[in-house]
Amino acid sequence: MRNLQVNGERLWASLMELARIGATEKGGVCRLAASDLDGQARRLLIRSCEEAGCSVRVDRIGNIFARRPGRDPGLALVMTGSHLDTQPTGGKFDGAYGVMAALEVVRTLNDVGYETQAPIEIVAWTNEEGSRFSPAMVGSGAFAGVFDLSKALARPDNVTGVTLGAELERIGFAGSDRVGGRPLKAYFEAHIEQGPILERLCSEQTLPFTARY
Ligand SMILES: [Zn+2]
Repeated sequence: MRNLQVNGERLWASLMELARIGATEKGGVCRLAASDLDGQARRLLIRSCEEAGCSVRVDRIGNIFARRPGRDPGLALVMTGSHLDTQPTGGKFDGAYGVMAALEVVRTLNDVGYETQAPIEIVAWTNEEGSRFSPAMVGSGAFAGVFDLSKALARPDNVTGVTLGAELERIGFAGSDRVGGRPLKAYFEAHIEQGPILERLCSEQTLPFTARY
């Protein structure tokens, strides 16, 4: 297979469309977990994934999985994604990049009509940040069996005390799928570096690897 190239302009447009949901005056994003804005972002993702031919499912803790079938449905799947929630003073790319990059990979495979062996799933994990409902990463943690599902759903909002489970229900994302228990072949998450260290190391070329192809 020849090397595939994603469409950078399309990925950028997806990121900018998502960044409008919860946009702040300072140019960042405030989209707290299980808020109305989180619900809007989730619906935008689902619409985009369905347009890309994926079938979408939501589990009981609101994790979203958009599946592009593979040649062999019996194979363990390849998963890629990140989170849509942000800190109160979040940015446009934290989490969003990993989710939209995953969507762009699927769109790129669609463009060339490439069929993978294993199914691919785009994932958006619930409440990665933990700024509204602590602790962080309860969606992925419950999926991995690290957090107990009922305890995770009972976590209270730091201010109002309303539970994560009630808020997921309210925004329409208390799904019915079992949480976790599915084998993954591989998991990829593209995530922005939020400090200067990686950039500096790259420019000094002191990393053990360099991005040359
Ligand atoms: Zn993040």
